[in-house]
Amino acid sequence: MQLNRRDFMKVTGAGIACLSLSQLGFDLKPLKAYAAELKIAGAKEVISVCPFCSVSCHIIAHVKDGQLVSTEGDPDYPINQGALCAKGAAMLSLTRSSHRVTKPLYRAPNSDKWEEKDWGWVIDRIARRVKESRDKNLQLTNTKGQTVNRLEHVFALGTSHMDNEECALTHQAMRALGVVHMDHQARI
Ligand code: SF4
Repeated sequence: MQLNRRDFMKVTGAGIACLSLSQLGFDLKPLKAYAAELKIAGAKEVISVCPFCSVSCHIIAHVKDGQLVSTEGDPDYPINQGALCAKGAAMLSLTRSSHRVTKPLYRAPNSDKWEEKDWGWVIDRIARRVKESRDKNLQLTNTKGQTVNRLEHVFALGTSHMDNEECALTHQAMRALGVVHMDHQARI
Protein backbone atom coordinates (compact mmCIF):
# COMPACT_ATOMS: atom_id res chain seq x y z
CA MET A 1 0.00 0.00 0.00
CA GLN A 2 1.35 3.46 -0.88
CA LEU A 3 0.61 6.35 1.43
CA ASN A 4 0.88 9.99 0.44
CA ARG A 5 1.85 12.56 3.06
CA ARG A 6 -1.79 13.37 3.89
CA ASP A 7 -2.71 9.67 4.34
CA PHE A 8 0.39 9.15 6.45
CA MET A 9 -0.61 11.99 8.80
CA LYS A 10 -4.14 10.55 9.11
CA VAL A 11 -2.92 7.01 9.86
CA THR A 12 -0.27 8.07 12.37
CA GLY A 13 -2.68 10.57 13.93
CA ALA A 14 -5.23 7.80 14.51
CA GLY A 15 -2.53 5.56 15.98
CA ILE A 16 -1.32 8.29 18.29
CA ALA A 17 -4.91 9.04 19.40
CA CYS A 18 -5.43 5.34 20.31
CA LEU A 19 -2.11 5.17 22.10
CA SER A 20 -2.89 8.36 23.97
CA LEU A 21 -6.04 6.99 25.58
CA SER A 22 -4.04 4.47 27.56
CA GLN A 23 -1.04 6.77 27.91
CA LEU A 24 -3.26 9.47 29.37
CA GLY A 25 -4.25 7.11 32.13
CA PHE A 26 -7.49 5.66 30.74
CA ASP A 27 -7.84 2.05 31.81
CA LEU A 28 -9.06 0.21 28.67
CA LYS A 29 -9.47 -3.16 30.38
CA PRO A 30 -13.12 -2.60 31.44
CA LEU A 31 -13.95 -1.52 27.88
CA LYS A 32 -12.41 -4.68 26.45
CA ALA A 33 -14.18 -6.83 29.05
CA TYR A 34 -17.48 -5.06 28.25
CA ALA A 35 -17.05 -5.74 24.52
CA ALA A 36 -16.39 -9.44 25.24
CA GLU A 37 -19.41 -9.56 27.55
CA LEU A 38 -21.71 -8.22 24.82
CA LYS A 39 -20.83 -11.18 22.63
CA ILE A 40 -21.66 -13.74 25.29
CA ALA A 41 -24.50 -11.88 27.08
CA GLY A 42 -27.33 -14.33 27.73
CA ALA A 43 -25.30 -17.25 26.34
CA LYS A 44 -25.15 -20.65 28.03
CA GLU A 45 -21.66 -21.58 29.22
CA VAL A 46 -20.56 -25.13 28.54
CA ILE A 47 -17.22 -26.69 29.49
CA SER A 48 -16.04 -28.83 26.62
CA VAL A 49 -12.94 -30.70 25.52
CA CYS A 50 -10.90 -29.88 22.44
CA PRO A 51 -11.17 -32.98 20.22
CA PHE A 52 -8.06 -32.43 18.09
CA CYS A 53 -5.42 -34.24 20.12
CA SER A 54 -4.98 -36.33 23.23
CA VAL A 55 -3.83 -33.37 25.34
CA SER A 56 -7.61 -32.78 25.68
CA CYS A 57 -7.48 -29.12 26.66
CA HIS A 58 -10.64 -27.77 28.25
CA ILE A 59 -12.59 -25.11 26.41
CA ILE A 60 -15.27 -22.76 27.64
CA ALA A 61 -17.91 -22.65 24.92
CA HIS A 62 -20.75 -20.12 24.87
CA VAL A 63 -23.96 -21.07 23.07
CA LYS A 64 -26.73 -18.62 22.23
CA ASP A 65 -29.92 -19.49 20.34
CA GLY A 66 -28.43 -22.87 19.41
CA GLN A 67 -25.32 -21.22 17.92
CA LEU A 68 -21.77 -21.35 19.19
CA VAL A 69 -20.79 -17.70 19.76
CA SER A 70 -17.48 -17.96 21.57
CA THR A 71 -14.81 -20.49 22.52
CA GLU A 72 -11.82 -19.86 24.78
CA GLY A 73 -9.38 -21.85 26.87
CA ASP A 74 -10.54 -22.77 30.37
CA PRO A 75 -8.25 -21.04 32.90
CA ASP A 76 -9.42 -23.36 35.70
CA TYR A 77 -8.32 -26.55 33.99
CA PRO A 78 -4.83 -27.51 35.21
CA ILE A 79 -3.61 -29.02 31.93
CA ASN A 80 -4.00 -26.03 29.62
CA GLN A 81 -4.63 -23.27 32.20
CA GLY A 82 -6.56 -21.15 29.70
CA ALA A 83 -4.16 -21.64 26.79
CA LEU A 84 -5.00 -23.26 23.45
CA CYS A 85 -2.76 -24.08 20.51
CA ALA A 86 -3.62 -22.76 17.03
CA LYS A 87 -5.93 -25.70 16.32
CA GLY A 88 -7.94 -25.32 19.53
CA ALA A 89 -7.99 -21.55 19.15
CA ALA A 90 -9.56 -21.96 15.69
CA MET A 91 -12.48 -23.94 17.13
CA LEU A 92 -15.02 -21.15 16.64
CA SER A 93 -14.10 -20.51 13.02
CA LEU A 94 -14.32 -24.23 12.34
CA THR A 95 -18.05 -23.98 12.92
CA ARG A 96 -18.78 -20.34 12.03
CA SER A 97 -16.32 -19.12 9.40
CA SER A 98 -17.84 -17.91 6.15
CA HIS A 99 -14.75 -19.36 4.41
CA ARG A 100 -15.69 -22.95 5.28
CA VAL A 101 -16.23 -25.23 2.32
CA THR A 102 -19.58 -26.83 3.01
CA LYS A 103 -20.11 -28.79 -0.22
CA PRO A 104 -17.86 -31.31 -1.95
CA LEU A 105 -15.77 -29.74 -4.70
CA TYR A 106 -14.35 -31.76 -7.58
CA ARG A 107 -11.62 -30.77 -10.01
CA ALA A 108 -11.49 -33.00 -13.05
CA PRO A 109 -8.11 -34.15 -14.40
CA ASN A 110 -6.40 -31.27 -16.31
CA SER A 111 -9.14 -28.83 -15.35
CA ASP A 112 -8.49 -25.54 -13.57
CA LYS A 113 -12.05 -25.29 -12.23
CA TRP A 114 -13.75 -26.71 -9.16
CA GLU A 115 -17.25 -28.08 -9.62
CA GLU A 116 -19.80 -28.56 -6.86
CA LYS A 117 -20.91 -32.17 -6.53
CA ASP A 118 -23.29 -33.93 -4.19
CA TRP A 119 -22.02 -36.32 -1.53
CA GLY A 120 -23.45 -39.40 -3.28
CA TRP A 121 -21.48 -38.66 -6.45
CA VAL A 122 -18.25 -37.99 -4.56
CA ILE A 123 -18.44 -41.04 -2.29
CA ASP A 124 -19.30 -43.26 -5.22
CA ARG A 125 -16.36 -41.95 -7.24
CA ILE A 126 -13.85 -42.29 -4.39
CA ALA A 127 -15.05 -45.85 -3.67
CA ARG A 128 -14.79 -46.76 -7.36
CA ARG A 129 -11.27 -45.34 -7.72
CA VAL A 130 -10.02 -46.98 -4.51
CA LYS A 131 -11.45 -50.35 -5.56
CA GLU A 132 -9.90 -50.08 -9.03
CA SER A 133 -6.51 -49.29 -7.53
CA ARG A 134 -6.77 -52.01 -4.88
CA ASP A 135 -7.87 -54.67 -7.36
CA LYS A 136 -4.91 -53.79 -9.54
CA ASN A 137 -2.18 -53.13 -7.00
CA LEU A 138 -2.77 -55.06 -3.76
CA GLN A 139 0.46 -56.85 -2.93
CA LEU A 140 -0.26 -60.14 -1.15
CA THR A 141 3.30 -61.29 -0.40
CA ASN A 142 6.74 -59.73 -0.28
CA THR A 143 9.85 -60.98 -2.08
CA LYS A 144 10.40 -63.61 0.64
CA GLY A 145 6.91 -65.00 0.13
CA GLN A 146 5.68 -63.62 3.45
CA THR A 147 2.08 -62.40 3.60
CA VAL A 148 1.92 -58.58 3.63
CA ASN A 149 -1.46 -57.67 2.06
CA ARG A 150 -0.38 -54.10 1.44
CA LEU A 151 -1.60 -51.42 -0.91
CA GLU A 152 1.07 -48.86 -1.64
CA HIS A 153 -0.74 -47.05 -4.46
CA VAL A 154 -3.29 -45.27 -2.24
CA PHE A 155 -2.31 -42.51 0.16
CA ALA A 156 -4.65 -41.18 2.84
CA LEU A 157 -4.15 -37.59 3.96
CA GLY A 158 -6.27 -36.10 6.73
CA THR A 159 -6.54 -32.55 8.00
CA SER A 160 -5.51 -30.81 11.19
CA HIS A 161 -9.19 -30.64 12.08
CA MET A 162 -9.86 -34.35 12.16
CA ASP A 163 -10.76 -35.24 15.70
CA ASN A 164 -9.41 -38.27 17.59
CA GLU A 165 -12.39 -40.48 16.70
CA GLU A 166 -12.31 -39.56 13.00
CA CYS A 167 -8.59 -40.39 12.95
CA ALA A 168 -9.21 -43.77 14.61
CA LEU A 169 -11.98 -44.65 12.11
CA THR A 170 -9.96 -43.52 9.10
CA HIS A 171 -6.93 -45.45 10.31
CA GLN A 172 -8.94 -48.65 10.77
CA ALA A 173 -10.66 -48.30 7.39
CA MET A 174 -7.36 -47.68 5.59
CA ARG A 175 -5.59 -50.56 7.37
CA ALA A 176 -8.49 -52.85 6.41
CA LEU A 177 -7.82 -51.96 2.76
CA GLY A 178 -4.10 -52.60 3.19
CA VAL A 179 -3.12 -48.92 2.89
CA VAL A 180 0.22 -48.30 4.57
CA HIS A 181 0.85 -44.65 3.67
CA MET A 182 -1.26 -42.21 5.65
CA ASP A 183 -0.77 -39.00 7.52
CA HIS A 184 -2.62 -36.07 9.00
CA GLN A 185 -1.61 -33.04 10.94
CA ALA A 186 -2.04 -34.26 14.50
CA ARG A 187 1.14 -32.65 15.73
CA ILE A 188 0.92 -29.61 17.95
S1 SF4 B 1 -5.18 -29.58 19.64
FE1 SF4 B 1 -4.25 -27.94 20.84
S2 SF4 B 1 -5.91 -27.02 22.01
FE2 SF4 B 1 -6.63 -29.01 21.23
S3 SF4 B 1 -6.23 -30.48 22.89
FE3 SF4 B 1 -4.44 -30.51 21.53
S4 SF4 B 1 -3.00 -29.00 22.40
FE4 SF4 B 1 -5.03 -28.61 23.31
